[in-house]
Amino acid sequence: MPLTQRGRKLTATTRAREGCSLLRVISFDIDGTLEVGDPPGTIPITVVRRALALGFVAGSCSDRPISFQQALWAEHGIAVHFTVLKQHLTTVRERFAADHYLHIGDSPIDRMMAEGAGFDFVHVLEDDLLNALETLNLHG
Ligand SMILES: [Mg+2]
Repeated sequence: MPLTQRGRKLTATTRAREGCSLLRVISFDIDGTLEVGDPPGTIPITVVRRALALGFVAGSCSDRPISFQQALWAEHGIAVHFTVLKQHLTTVRERFAADHYLHIGDSPIDRMMAEGAGFDFVHVLEDDLLNALETLNLHG
């Protein structure tokens, strides 16, 4: 299935299921960002589960090989929408037509890649992460 079609289908089904007007894409760095990373970050894995349950398109964007990222999600029984290498965040934007794109990470590289790919960026330590998550209804 062509990627654009796939993105449209997801948009429609997600909106139908959640009855919401916005489709949001959220991308998580792993190491230093998620609690399951190495080093562990501040974001509990439950935030990812909650994002998926709320109809977000969610996945990981990390320096870790794709196989590692996939194994990590499988280990936690989480079916994410994407796993990409950090320099390929732009492909996520191309693949999913959405109203809002956000990447959360812990390094200047994360910020650079996010901005380059047209994603908003939240730094887990330097920005107000709690507020960002609460705004998206992803905390609590
Ligand atoms: Mg990191």
